[in-house]
Amino acid sequence: MTPGVRPFVAGNWKMNGLSASLGEIEAMRRAADAGEAGEAELAVCPPATLLAQAAWKIRGGKLSLGAQDCHPEPSGAFTGDISAPMLKDAGATYVIVGHSERRTLHHETDALVRAKAEAALKAGLTAIVCVGETKEERQAGDAIAVVTRQLKGSLPPGGGPDSVVVSYEPVWAIGTGLTPTPKDVTEMHGAIRTLLGEIYGPGGSKLRILYGGSVKPGNCRDLLTLDNVDGALIGGASLKAAEFLAIAAAYR
Ligand code: PEP
Repeated sequence: MTPGVRPFVAGNWKMNGLSASLGEIEAMRRAADAGEAGEAELAVCPPATLLAQAAWKIRGGKLSLGAQDCHPEPSGAFTGDISAPMLKDAGATYVIVGHSERRTLHHETDALVRAKAEAALKAGLTAIVCVGETKEERQAGDAIAVVTRQLKGSLPPGGGPDSVVVSYEPVWAIGTGLTPTPKDVTEMHGAIRTLLGEIYGPGGSKLRILYGGSVKPGNCRDLLTLDNVDGALIGGASLKAAEFLAIAAAYR
């Protein structure tokens, strides 16, 4: 944790969830309103098809809403894509950009991720910028160099603690049940904090740096209370409110 920084726990539902799942979002909202996550801010990022309905369910409450991706342009002939102003209009306040599944499966480059993050900021959304090394890169001792390169290429100019969140997500830890050691997480988050200071100046010391990758109720306390770990981005374990809230309880 970083002194003076409010922790942030966000759920990434990926391509999961139908309108029948809105009850989970309602349960998250009730917990957020009741302060069950202590001082932490809670957010859920359902698929775009559920955003407007979810926004209705959480209106006036303390649960925040995020999207999982956006197009760099505000509008135009981009069949199937969704722009940042559209997400804002649907009720989102956050948008994930540069998730490793998009970097890998959709061949997204750092430059594209940065363009998406800039579009998010322009639309008044906070960008959750994801970075992380592969297993091979970690084994080669290149993890910090890779993440540094990704951040230098992906972070939007002019960002700050209210408009940008960084999520460190080792690719090999996502959905695998594997996690880095607390020592490795501390080392990486410390390196990211130093870099954020270089890029954003004093504001970089207050930007939230999340850890993501196989966070579960059983390991959350060990990971989420480390230096410079200001919360988590949670995939599989965020689909059920009970599991998500058990993780957020690390900040109670
Ligand atoms: C993610 O996809 O952002 C993620 C962290 O997934 P999981 O928690 O399932 O590893």
